[in-house]
Amino acid sequence: MLKLLFWLIVALVIGLFFAIRQANRLRAEQQADESTETRSLESVRCAHCGVFVPEDKAVRREGHDFCSWEHAQAWADARAESGRKPGRRESE
Ligand SMILES: [Zn+2]
Repeated sequence: MLKLLFWLIVALVIGLFFAIRQANRLRAEQQADESTETRSLESVRCAHCGVFVPEDKAVRREGHDFCSWEHAQAWADARAESGRKPGRRESE
């Protein structure tokens, strides 16, 4: 009787071990799926034209995101210009 109980416990422990391993593997797969999904869905807004672009395709300059190098350059030029002529808006 004691022998049967021992083997029953051993079988239970082995079963539990495999169940936990399977659950951990499933959870890890789900987390991996979620992280790739959110990465591909993340988008940033172009500071120049306002278009949304995927973060991995965006151009980053001076803490701002842009859809292209052209817009990053245009934004930087416009900022430099407004910095050079601070009184331009007031005189117009
Ligand atoms: Zn743009």
